[in-house]
Amino acid sequence: MFLDRDGVINRRKTGGYITNWEEFFFQEGVRESLAFLKDIFGRIIIVSNQQGVGKGLMTISDLELIDLKMKEEIRNAGGSIDAAYYSTHLATENHPDRKPGTGLGLKARQEFPEISFAHSVMAGDTLSDMQFGRNLGMVNVLISNNKNDISHDDLYDYHFDSLLSFTQFIKR
Ligand SMILES: [Mg+2]
Repeated sequence: MFLDRDGVINRRKTGGYITNWEEFFFQEGVRESLAFLKDIFGRIIIVSNQQGVGKGLMTISDLELIDLKMKEEIRNAGGSIDAAYYSTHLATENHPDRKPGTGLGLKARQEFPEISFAHSVMAGDTLSDMQFGRNLGMVNVLISNNKNDISHDDLYDYHFDSLLSFTQFIKR
């Protein structure tokens, strides 16, 4: 299973980037959900755009420290993240690693060759995540309360208001 980070695992920061651990707040029930989803899907892989680095608002080490602490907390709750891939490129660069480009997905498959995108799920909170999933032929789950995004129902297969709701749906 592929997961976006901001807005899915942790709360988005309105109008800004998560530049340090103090700004990182897990969404309700996500740590426990990840432990369950790991059992169901086998692999949990994070793919995340972090252009705050490209903009110079934070460093790669800031990003790596957040990554380390996030994974540690998820492990403490019984889950685990197999890998997290970040694109630090600016939107204006049009780099293939920046979602909706497929670069991060292809990197994941390089590291885990058994990944079949057609049998993978992408969960994200933006249409760009959904486009990324579509570009790779994955099953798309939109995690959102945004009415405009929800109206683009050609871009996703399932819609839930949180990763917790998605997990509860799978459990039923
Ligand atoms: Mg997001």
